[in-house]
Amino acid sequence: MRIARFSTQGVPRFGVLEGEGASGDDPDSLEGLEGSVLAVVDGDPLVHGISFTGDRVPFVDARLLAPVIPRSKVVAVGRNYAEHAAELGNEVPPEPLFFIKPNTSVVGPADPVVYPAQSSEVHFEGELAVVIGRLCRDVPPERVEEVVFGYTCANDVTARDLQRRDGHWTRAKGFDTFCPLGPWMETEIDVSDLGVTTTVNGEKRQDGRTAQMVNGVPALVAHISSVMTLLPGDVILTGTPAGVGAMDVGDEVSVSIEHLGTLTNRVVSK
Ligand code: ZN
Repeated sequence: MRIARFSTQGVPRFGVLEGEGASGDDPDSLEGLEGSVLAVVDGDPLVHGISFTGDRVPFVDARLLAPVIPRSKVVAVGRNYAEHAAELGNEVPPEPLFFIKPNTSVVGPADPVVYPAQSSEVHFEGELAVVIGRLCRDVPPERVEEVVFGYTCANDVTARDLQRRDGHWTRAKGFDTFCPLGPWMETEIDVSDLGVTTTVNGEKRQDGRTAQMVNGVPALVAHISSVMTLLPGDVILTGTPAGVGAMDVGDEVSVSIEHLGTLTNRVVSK
């Protein structure tokens, strides 16, 4: 099931995609969705479950928003693909290395990423994002699928120069608009071996597979939940494959995950 958050006339709602393209495999575009509809869900599916209002909105009339309301936190994992760790001169850490992106960094598909004046080296990082569905703590790996609501695409936008300069990552990863999520949540998908690609202005820059993760989703959620309670709507970014690089003002950056969808954002100046 594909669950989008969207607005019509400025009113945000959730809806389940129905019709042609609603479960299609083409990760490259929203094409094929012109005839689709969003079956409107009552309230927030992460809180209230899925019950339909009976309203239906043509997909073309909806403006997609970040598919999850970022009430609490985004936990992001660093150096979880060996080739990416190596390209920045880092070792793979002995246990998962993670940090927090503030919920104020989250934006939706088609929202702009604002290039901050404090940086001159902003990078894209295409990543698989996990959406947590219920309050949980100390989740054993074999029970992680019980606490996962769904998955979406993320761009863990990073001011690489500030990351080096600060010695910690809060500013470099924490600017407003530095966590695009979308285009929707996919609830029924095996994420153990999916293609993750990032393009800049249509040119492929990252081309990895989730099977290359050092720690997979069960190990990551187990580890993070051994440290902090996870809440419904928390998002976990699972690390980026090799190929990170610059995104500049005017660029259009797309993160695509096989069988899931494509998240596209344009970079604008402040
Ligand atoms: Zn990252």
